[in-house]
Amino acid sequence: MNAAHARLWNLLGLGPLWTERAAATAGRFDAQATPEAAGAPVGRMNWDELERNVTGCTACGLCKGRTRTVFGVGSRDSEWMVIGEGPGAEEDLRGEPFVGQAGRLLDSILAAAGLGRSASGHAGVYIANVVKCRPPGNRNPEPDEVAHCEPYLRRQIELLRPRIILLLGRVAAQAMIGTDASIASLRGRVHRLEIGGSSVPTIVTYHPAYLLRNLADKAKVWADLCLAHEVFKRSERSPTR
Ligand code: SF4
Repeated sequence: MNAAHARLWNLLGLGPLWTERAAATAGRFDAQATPEAAGAPVGRMNWDELERNVTGCTACGLCKGRTRTVFGVGSRDSEWMVIGEGPGAEEDLRGEPFVGQAGRLLDSILAAAGLGRSASGHAGVYIANVVKCRPPGNRNPEPDEVAHCEPYLRRQIELLRPRIILLLGRVAAQAMIGTDASIASLRGRVHRLEIGGSSVPTIVTYHPAYLLRNLADKAKVWADLCLAHEVFKRSERSPTR
């Protein structure tokens, strides 16, 4: 994090810097068998095949209420990956994740850290959700819906080969890590998701929609981003699969 970014964070009212707590947990992808969505060999698809498959997916009941599927956004060369819960109303209409007020806050936070969905490589962030269709009434996705959609997200991670993953909010954190633990107990340490033979360092932080209601916790998100930056510097990209 350079001085310019630190100044921007201060302007946003964020801080202080993080301290890392030692701990690690294995992600659920390590232990689970691969459920194939829509009967397709998702694990062998390229990006375009995967996106087409998601667009036509009817593997769970969420397909009935969607306007558009929300596949993901960002350069496919991004070294950062952000994973949220699922599309809201605005995302459902536009087909892009994090485009409402919470999305703008996320973009501001990422920009302050020198990152963005329009950038690529070490500054690029690819953004996706654990489910690609909007849950009705913005409810949390059910476990079976997450399970049906999981192969798509798993393949996105395999194709992207991120050096680090940020999990935003309780639903994404619990689904990916396979735990009932609270955000408070999951953040501040480095988890690892075992995907396709690679172990990806993973940081948990608050969802920007939560931050909009709890501005005082911006400092904690800043601390989590700083931790992620330090872990990123020590990480390597896995080989192409
Ligand atoms: S949420 Fe995922 S599994 Fe369910 S219909 Fe949408 S794309 Fe398919």
